[in-house]
Amino acid sequence: MARILVSGGAGFIGSHLVDTLLQRGDQVIALDNFFTGRKVNIAPHKDNVNFEYIRHDITEPILLEVDEIYHLACPASPVHYQHNPIKTVKTNVMGTINLLGLAKRVHAKFLLASTSEVYGDPQEHPQKETYWGNVNPVGPRSCYDEGKRVAETLACDYRIGHNVDTKIVRIFNTYGPRMLFNDGRVVSNFIIQALKNEPLTIYGEGTQTRSFCYVSDLVDGFLKFMDREHEFMGPVNMGNPEELTMIDLARLIIELTGSSSELTHVPLPQDDPTRRRPDICLAKKELDWEPTVSVRDGLSKTIEDFRARLSQGEE
Ligand code: NAD
Ligand code: UDP
Repeated sequence: MARILVSGGAGFIGSHLVDTLLQRGDQVIALDNFFTGRKVNIAPHKDNVNFEYIRHDITEPILLEVDEIYHLACPASPVHYQHNPIKTVKTNVMGTINLLGLAKRVHAKFLLASTSEVYGDPQEHPQKETYWGNVNPVGPRSCYDEGKRVAETLACDYRIGHNVDTKIVRIFNTYGPRMLFNDGRVVSNFIIQALKNEPLTIYGEGTQTRSFCYVSDLVDGFLKFMDREHEFMGPVNMGNPEELTMIDLARLIIELTGSSSELTHVPLPQDDPTRRRPDICLAKKELDWEPTVSVRDGLSKTIEDFRARLSQGEE
């Protein structure tokens, strides 16, 4: 039975990972400062002897004994990571150093949740891991993009300098049950708007593209990567290559919710990437991983969850 630390374990992706690890029979510690994470996400495990959570901010060091670390702690949506940009940088830099230091001390394997945002507004399409990116270092997304780029550098240098078994995943847009209603990301915005029969807010023309991966597929990829032997660090793209424009996504969500909503156009935020789709050949080759849940099925499950939470009065 492995002892596993999940930083950001009360968040959207982290809590799904915690569920899967506990189902598998592992011992899990969820570490979270509850900035965007919620106790309700981990509440079902409160009586499980294999589970504990610690309220802790990873910008401070922590001493624990674990075998594996999944490092997810960092606000993920632009609304949240821009709320306090300096804190976002601290979380990615100091927080990652603290957890890598922990991994080094206890010889734990370490998986970093990085992001497709390291590619910025990509000039290569689809994006392969060998692409170095097109990132604005002084824009509104920089605290997150550059923060994650430094986190990758740290994971790489702890491997070279201290032989820590680090693994880097570049996550592309991921969605599913438990996303916050108000996190400002496109899937949650559109579903809430559709369920309330309000206009769906298309930023700009809506011709920009994204590729959406269902959360259970991503968790499956994380587990495969953690079990891969030491030699392979990545970075590895994980995402669903099915690419959609925001107009297509809006129409699909209106269809699946049976909503009477219309579309409305509002200004495009600064530095909004125009296209994004992962090349997942490396994940297929090295990890035998690819997504299995179609966007239609994943969105249906997410809509079901949002509908239930709305009817319970969540805001
Ligand atoms: P989330 O905001 O739901 O989860 C992040 C969790 O980290 C939250 O529970 C939050 O409270 C916690 N946290 C934030 N700062 C912390 C700190 N300083 N100390 C301790 N805990 C802290 O977001 P998510 O969508 O679950 O994303 C998880 C990870 O995956 C993040 O690192 C994010 O950058 C990465 N990622 C997510 C996506 C996506 O589409 N969801 C895409 C790319 C990368
Ligand atoms: N977007 C949109 N309407 C919304 C929220 C977002 O059209 O209500 C667009 C946004 O401009 C971007 C895409 O949807 O082009 C994905 O945005 P999100 O914030 O979900 O993720 P990211 O930009 O980080 O990929």
